[in-house]
Amino acid sequence: MTFQDLHLIEPIQRALKTAGYQKPTPIQAQSIPLALQGRDLLACAQTGTGKTAAFALPILQLLNDQQPGSNRRRSVQALVLAPTRELAIQIGESFDAYGKHLKLRHTVIFGGVSQNAQTRQLQSGVDILVATPGRLLDLINQGYVSLDQIEFFVLDEADRMLDMGFIHDVKRVIRKLPQKRQTFFFSATMPSDIVKLSAEILDRPAKVQVDPVSSTAERVEQSVYFVPKKQKRKLLLHLLRHEDISEALVFTRTKHGANRVAKDLTKSGIRAEAIHGNKSQNARQLALKNFKDRHTRVLVATDIAARGIDIDELSHVINFDLPNISETYVHRIGRTGRAGASGIALSFCDTEERPYLRDIQKLTGLRIPIVDGHPFTAEDEDSQPAPQPAAPARQERRNGNGNGNRNGNNRSRKRGNKNRRSGSKAPGDNRR
Ligand code: AMP
Repeated sequence: MTFQDLHLIEPIQRALKTAGYQKPTPIQAQSIPLALQGRDLLACAQTGTGKTAAFALPILQLLNDQQPGSNRRRSVQALVLAPTRELAIQIGESFDAYGKHLKLRHTVIFGGVSQNAQTRQLQSGVDILVATPGRLLDLINQGYVSLDQIEFFVLDEADRMLDMGFIHDVKRVIRKLPQKRQTFFFSATMPSDIVKLSAEILDRPAKVQVDPVSSTAERVEQSVYFVPKKQKRKLLLHLLRHEDISEALVFTRTKHGANRVAKDLTKSGIRAEAIHGNKSQNARQLALKNFKDRHTRVLVATDIAARGIDIDELSHVINFDLPNISETYVHRIGRTGRAGASGIALSFCDTEERPYLRDIQKLTGLRIPIVDGHPFTAEDEDSQPAPQPAAPARQERRNGNGNGNRNGNNRSRKRGNKNRRSGSKAPGDNRR
């Protein structure tokens, strides 16, 4: 199955090519044709499966078919509701990427920040609006948003909306939508209250379902290093010097962090480059090529920049920072160990990131072995490595002195609710 088989228009296909997508993921292959036919969708899929494109591509295409001109008066015709500001931003970035050759405008609104920039965007006219429920209701009440012209409505991560207590806000929004519309309902799990809600808002939906993303984590060898934030760069250098790591994709949370890590490594004689959203497409592509051709040993990336990166036989993924969205972890480590090959994922976890680690373990149902006794456990930035290098993660598992073996013992510890992330609110999540 290719994107051409899905009858996506050329400008969208071009954008997907630039994003590095080679073929549709299963959720895309199932959803896109149905959505293009005008069907409502009830989709059981998690973040990490490619679900954003599964609804974003048909929306872009259908809206584009209706009004290719750019001089018309714009009104919000597609609304995507997301539970957190992080997810909303991520969805907005996806619309950016997929719609870059179209004349459609979108914006993202969420709470916790001043509304001025958002209202300015709204007043300048948008076709697609991505929003968290609270801020959306605020701005509707203030008269900045009207939902009268909505033709497409997406409820994303419906189960998480419910977990986070947004159900009433969501229902309030739904009451303001026109009856005649196309609705896409996405949820990682389908407990009975979610099924009930879906029945209320969908019209004879087509049902689509894909395997939980968490299963990809099982074939990657994982370990975690508890390390103070300030010591992470030393630990990284130490591992690259002492471990058998031929190449590594290193993930940082921020663009600034990616630059700093790459600069640090280069200064220490390790060939490294950073890719992130502030770099031009050409610079990113060159960095990627250098990495693929093994001219650089380490590619430091933010999640957004790493989208679509597909590198054969990537041996190591290193999470310099743990992501606050558990599915992102699974997606990152899924870049190694592709096509049945077993890859290695090392994660650095500082005190503030412990809750993220808990969420990741809950999602994957795996307990990630801890590497004890590495030299950078102390807060003191000037501390020197202990004489003994850290035991290689791989060796540790083989010797059985880690916290359990990945594929055997750990699986037996799987928790029942393995498809769900915890309902806890990660720092930075925004409820409005
Ligand atoms: P999502 O589940 O929508 O959050 O997507 C998870 C990740 O997969 C994002 O980084 C997307 O950019 C990436 N992605 C989505 N569709 C594809 C595809 N067809 N090929 C490669 N990567 C994809």
